[in-house]
Amino acid sequence: MKRIIALVFVLVLALSLVACGGKFTCDECGKEKSGSPKKAEFMGETANLCSECYAEFEELMGELGDLEDQLGDLEGLLG
Ligand SMILES: [Zn+2]
Repeated sequence: MKRIIALVFVLVLALSLVACGGKFTCDECGKEKSGSPKKAEFMGETANLCSECYAEFEELMGELGDLEDQLGDLEGLLG
């Protein structure tokens, strides 16, 4: 009985390792990467990105945020 429990435990452990240590293809650069992808949400769509593309994505989002702030300031001046 103990053996079965040990076996099940090992199986679950192996499966969870595969789940978070698997491979994925980056939606942005199309390269196959190991590990788990970073989820990036944009315009209601979710993309699986590698860490490099995610860093670029975050940078872009930061710039868009700045732009929105500037537009908000402009609207404040005009309105
Ligand atoms: Zn990528």
